[in-house]
Amino acid sequence: MQIIFVKHTDLDHYEKLIPQLKEILSWLVIYLAKSKAMRLIFTSIYRPYDEERAKGRSGIHGLYRAVDVVIYEDGREFDQADYDRMAYLLNTAFVYGDGKHQVCVSFPHGTGKHLHIQARKETHKRTEEEM
Ligand SMILES: [Zn+2]
Repeated sequence: MQIIFVKHTDLDHYEKLIPQLKEILSWLVIYLAKSKAMRLIFTSIYRPYDEERAKGRSGIHGLYRAVDVVIYEDGREFDQADYDRMAYLLNTAFVYGDGKHQVCVSFPHGTGKHLHIQARKETHKRTEEEM
């Protein structure tokens, strides 16, 4: 499987991601490596907090707590149903931890199909009791 960073500076930004987000991404990479997915592309990692806020967004990409990815399988991009399934898996495997949001959103607005994956300090692998 290929892992691609659209912006070369995002390689450095990836290193700064909070550990809880890296854990989710490791899980995703292992999952995709076992499936037929050929390519995981990080389309956006870091976006400056103030610029994001000025656009009316949460700014989470400026806090090293979120990434955007697209996935290709068998030479074509995941369709919406594939992304929805992947989001369901991630949200089943992980708990965001604030009682209202989820770790993965597959229906972002504005910028086309992708997965938005986010974490916070409280994000963790779902336990038996939380199933
Ligand atoms: Zn995002």
